Amino acid sequence: MTKNKFLIIGLLVLPSISIAESMPDADTVSEWVSFLASDELQGRANGTPSIREASEWIAGHFADAGLAHAPGAGSYFQEYMPEKKIPYRNVIGYLSGSDPSLANEYIVLSAHYDHIGVDGLKIFNGADDNASGTSTVVGLAYRLAKLKPGRSILFIAWSGEEEGLLGSRHYTTQPMLPLEDAVLNLNFEMVGHTEGNGKHQFWVTGAEHSTLFPALRKMGDEVGWKVAPNPFTDLQLFWRSDNASFVQLQVNEATRTIYGVPAHSISTWGQEGHYHAPSDTADTLDYENLAALIEVMGDMVNRLANQPDTIDWKDNPNFHLRHYDEKQ
Ligand SMILES: [Zn+2]
Repeated sequence: MTKNKFLIIGLLVLPSISIAESMPDADTVSEWVSFLASDELQGRANGTPSIREASEWIAGHFADAGLAHAPGAGSYFQEYMPEKKIPYRNVIGYLSGSDPSLANEYIVLSAHYDHIGVDGLKIFNGADDNASGTSTVVGLAYRLAKLKPGRSILFIAWSGEEEGLLGSRHYTTQPMLPLEDAVLNLNFEMVGHTEGNGKHQFWVTGAEHSTLFPALRKMGDEVGWKVAPNPFTDLQLFWRSDNASFVQLQVNEATRTIYGVPAHSISTWGQEGHYHAPSDTADTLDYENLAALIEVMGDMVNRLANQPDTIDWKDNPNFHLRHYDEKQ
């Protein structure tokens, strides 16, 4: 009897602890992507009621994770293009740093949540592009809120990406925190597939441009994850994804100097063949791997947010890269 009683108490207590520690697990991430990429959300085209529903869902998770609104903001939403019937929305959550000597600096974790909508009867669900990255940012909000990193973290889900990086461009012209204090942007793009490149690995755009790539590769080696440079260099993704809005904040053509925040996109995409196709559906992704990526990435971001040194730009033969706080 006594034994049974303890067993029951154990069953009641243990699962809730393990769920909290492993949050989000593969089933949870699968549920998230399946919602964002559901037929009901009609491909999350900008300016539609369905993407508005997605924005409310993201804000709800930011609240559940314990994120604050960005300093000075009255909600999780940053709206722009008000001439549209339904304005576009970036969704922004803020986690204040736990170390008073570092908390004025911050890391931006981002992903676009818009997609390309419908064409006649065809729904473009956008599971990998980019319900996967959006779920990664949501998952990192839960994990980092528990890890309590020293530097502050700004979590942003972009709209308008599919129309030309509109959300990230709007944000960097109307930032909620001084861009001078941003030390890094990690932007997640298409992180749901493993068929092309294998499990437990990701690649980084613009690997040669800053000290981020060697730092992540070293941390990856420690936990058995392969961190690679972007294998698809022809696509110029470093300059074409939302991270690019942070890279080029100010340009001095005379001195060939670009002032910006070290900013890179992270992906697992391996040319799986669903890009902007109706076949980009939730049932095609590897959720065990995606949940593991969120866990590994949470630890990596936590370390980057706690270490005294920050990520630096690297020069190259063609132009200079400098942090925005050195702008002239
Ligand atoms: Zn896309």
